Amino acid sequence: MITRRPNAVIVLSIVLAAALTAVAGWVMAQMREDALASARAAAYNMALLFERDTQRNFDVYSLALQGVIDAIDDPRLAELPDDLRQSVLFDRSATAKNLGAILVANASGDVIFDSRASPPRELNVADRDYFIAQRDSPHTGLYVSHPMMARDGPDDATIGLSRRLEKPDGSFAGVVVGTMRLDYFRRLMSGIEIGAHGAVTLTLADGTLLMRRPYAPEMIGRNLADSALFQRFGQEQEGGFFGVGPVDGVRRWFAFRRVDGYPLIFSVAVAAGDIYTEWRARAWIIGSLTALLDATLIAFAALLSRQLRRRELLEDELRALAGTDALTALANRRAFEARADHEWLRARRSGQPLAVMMLDVDRFKPYNDRYGHAAGDAALAAVARAIGSHARRPGDCAARYGGEEFVLLLPETNAAQALAHAEKLRSAIETLDIPHADSPNNVLTASVGVASTSASDFDSWRALVEAADAALYTAKRAGRNRVAVWQPSFAREHHNAGPEL
Ligand code: GH3
Ligand code: MG
Ligand code: MG
Repeated sequence: MITRRPNAVIVLSIVLAAALTAVAGWVMAQMREDALASARAAAYNMALLFERDTQRNFDVYSLALQGVIDAIDDPRLAELPDDLRQSVLFDRSATAKNLGAILVANASGDVIFDSRASPPRELNVADRDYFIAQRDSPHTGLYVSHPMMARDGPDDATIGLSRRLEKPDGSFAGVVVGTMRLDYFRRLMSGIEIGAHGAVTLTLADGTLLMRRPYAPEMIGRNLADSALFQRFGQEQEGGFFGVGPVDGVRRWFAFRRVDGYPLIFSVAVAAGDIYTEWRARAWIIGSLTALLDATLIAFAALLSRQLRRRELLEDELRALAGTDALTALANRRAFEARADHEWLRARRSGQPLAVMMLDVDRFKPYNDRYGHAAGDAALAAVARAIGSHARRPGDCAARYGGEEFVLLLPETNAAQALAHAEKLRSAIETLDIPHADSPNNVLTASVGVASTSASDFDSWRALVEAADAALYTAKRAGRNRVAVWQPSFAREHHNAGPEL
């Protein structure tokens, strides 16, 4: 049973604490995974929303530019007065929010219509990328230009969205270009929650940066194609990965997404630190609570174990006390019987002899009568000390058998050895010199009966004790203050005669 094993209590508590820690650790690991998973999902979702909004807007721009082309293709346009022509050409495009001025340039790049001015501003756009791209390829579709810095400052940077004008034979006739303020993307990115160290970027497919959050106007137009991060976008429509920002060294989760149908790539990055901030706070709480629980558990176990150990000691003490005679501090009769059981079996196994001595104080009744019960007690204690000092070998046991009778158990002792030992004891008691006026030699003496299994076969240790008792009576009969050894012939005599005295 566990309550009998103080150390097992501590071991069990440590195992429990370890299990508790393991569970807490597992929960924290799960929470960490969950944190990353939801941050990833959030980043993907943001990128998706950016894509949808941008795509819808660009579809509208594309249609608006197409509307201009359709109007230009109408031969009746040339016949219209200027103001009417302006409204026919550009009214539809006015519905496209965020779209700025629309220009129409001829094949040599000269602006021929201008939504902001009639007659148009004097301007040639032949060197612009949105012009060159349309001129060089009939399949460009809606072309998104590199950023164009405004004189008013980087905050007014724009991109141009161009479509190709063609003659009926399919040859290049010029471009329609609408400008769009990059501020649109800045506003798009501004509302979202991406954590303190999050970042959003929009680049052209060739790596040119169009907009960035945190806003960094000096970086607009810079080409990031060579950056390791941009290269990891690869050719996938969408994806995600952990990467370290080249500028700030912050580790982030990047979710990127191409805008379907347009050369634009959004990337939403959430800093690992931000992802795990909340998790870390919770992990601290769970971790310290777990440690506290563990410590409490082990402390309680240690306390319990100490109590158990104390109880064990107390029980040992009680057990010893229960087997000890209060007056003489020798073993009592019950303890003697237990020892006798044990030594009897041991002697039988080993084949070694086992001896027993019975000792009775001579004429003790008159001693008590003359000197008083207290003096009698003191004399008994002195005799007991002498007896105890004659039971020194391991396995020896001296006990108070009752009243002023004592018994000694002597393993590995034959009759002759027991006799010699008993004689020493008898003499030691005589030498105590306890005055006894009713004794023939005026001192307190004792008689001893000895029996050993070396002399005869006995059925049990009780038979051996009885034999020693018989020898004791013999000693008494023979005049007291002497030792008698049991002999097989005693058996009959003792049986026939019985105790006399
Ligand atoms: P014998 O020589 O034949 O043994 O004579 P005896 O007087 O000793 O006779 P017996 O053994 O019958 O007497 C035992 C006496 O021992 C009786 C009792 O008064 C005394 N006695 C027994 N136990 C105690 C004890 O614990 N304290 C004291 N003071 N006396 C005890
Ligand atoms: Mg007696
Ligand atoms: Mg006596």
